[in-house]
Amino acid sequence: MSDCFLTNLNHGKRTPSIGGFVPFSTVDWPGELSAVVFIAGCPWACHYCHNPHLQQRGGALSWENILSTLQKRVGLLDGVVFSGGEPFSDPLCTQLIRQVKALGFKVAVHTAGIYPSRLREALPSLDWVGFDIKTTPGGYPALTGRHQSAEPVQQCLEALIAWGGPFECRTTWHPDWLTETALLDLAQRLSAQGVRKYAVQRSRSTTRSLPVAEVSLIGRTTLRGLFQTFSYR
Ligand code: SF4
Repeated sequence: MSDCFLTNLNHGKRTPSIGGFVPFSTVDWPGELSAVVFIAGCPWACHYCHNPHLQQRGGALSWENILSTLQKRVGLLDGVVFSGGEPFSDPLCTQLIRQVKALGFKVAVHTAGIYPSRLREALPSLDWVGFDIKTTPGGYPALTGRHQSAEPVQQCLEALIAWGGPFECRTTWHPDWLTETALLDLAQRLSAQGVRKYAVQRSRSTTRSLPVAEVSLIGRTTLRGLFQTFSYR
């Protein structure tokens, strides 16, 4: 999930757990000019998390002020992205999505697939989902720091495939936590399950002094052959 810039919009009443707001973004929803709402809270503790300040619930921003800002952007933005943290860690997330939808915006979420029932509830209101597939099922506990973290991800993936709307699976990759062989195995499983869009996002090693690793040319060619759309970034 992407870095955010925190905008303190309101020091007053706080309801949902909003940890950040970006009024304009061209990178969080491919092809769409969007605003991004960062929900604070995540039950996992991935060692490579880029937004660790958003793992704790209790964001300081006012949802009312964000809605008011968004109302002034109708016609200027294509949509609104809910990111995090994990957006569905807040039980109010689907209500927020519906409120934004009612303003006339398209809505997307970035999710790691931790809350299958909340995702299913939100799907009819969503126009796009960026879905993190962190590793092979057996690798989840070590990466997320949580037992049985792979099961809800599989349930969410099945819900997305059954939904039939546009979504992208993406894996933040480094051989420190996922070998290239395991990455290719993971990609083959996703392709066989019906995933059509996949992205591999290069990450720095957990040992920061090491350079960014690259998937081999033959590996990238294999990945491209498995999906209708494949991005390597
Ligand atoms: S699921 Fe996302 S927000 Fe939660 S710890 Fe992992 S990388 Fe961070």
